Amino acid sequence: MKKQYRQTNVSRRNLLKLGAVGAGVLTAGLGANLVAPEKASAIDKQDITPDAALKELLDGNERFVKAKKRYPNQSIKRLQEVAKGQKPFASILGCADSRVPSEIVFDQGLGDLFVCRVAGNIATLEETGSLEFGSLVLGSKVILVLGHERCGAVDATIKGAQVPGQIGSLLEAIKPGVENAKGQPGDPLENACKANILVQIEKLKSSPVLAGLIKENKLKIVGAYYDLDTGKVSLVS
Ligand SMILES: [Zn+2]
Repeated sequence: MKKQYRQTNVSRRNLLKLGAVGAGVLTAGLGANLVAPEKASAIDKQDITPDAALKELLDGNERFVKAKKRYPNQSIKRLQEVAKGQKPFASILGCADSRVPSEIVFDQGLGDLFVCRVAGNIATLEETGSLEFGSLVLGSKVILVLGHERCGAVDATIKGAQVPGQIGSLLEAIKPGVENAKGQPGDPLENACKANILVQIEKLKSSPVLAGLIKENKLKIVGAYYDLDTGKVSLVS
């Protein structure tokens, strides 16, 4: 198997230094005593386990589907809290499709989700690098690869569409999933969308950084499929 990611010689310590700006260790430059414990815990949802982080996402989606949204963490107070540092509890590798906005469909707010969106929810090197940063440095506990119903990028790949510019690079990355879905019973587009999710998960898991975190039980990578008609997210892996 082609080795996709080179082991980097950047140590975790250096990465953490790099992340200090983003992770913004809450107390940096402030003095720990200035931060009230309640405030610290408000952005500390990431002390939960990967399973609990996944449940938090699915619970939020259930609120969205049932029109019982709580709109958490969207206040000016929250904005000011997370301005000091982010500690997102979950990451999403989602499609750029305008109908699947992560914070809305999971009923989350500022500083909750580390979101990478690209047409076809593909794990390019840049997306993978971002997600490595999100989990290794910022501490996100789950990466949800979120495909969706009637994905235009997957549909174009199935049809072998001739596309201009750089659009073809997306279709190339989606082809393996389309191939895997061939011959499956049911709707070809839905099957390919779901097979693509699984392919992208495998790509992410070939990252030594992410594989290491999974081994240490600090991370979980899960696939899910979004129903455009109902707003419901269902796990596919
Ligand atoms: Zn899509």
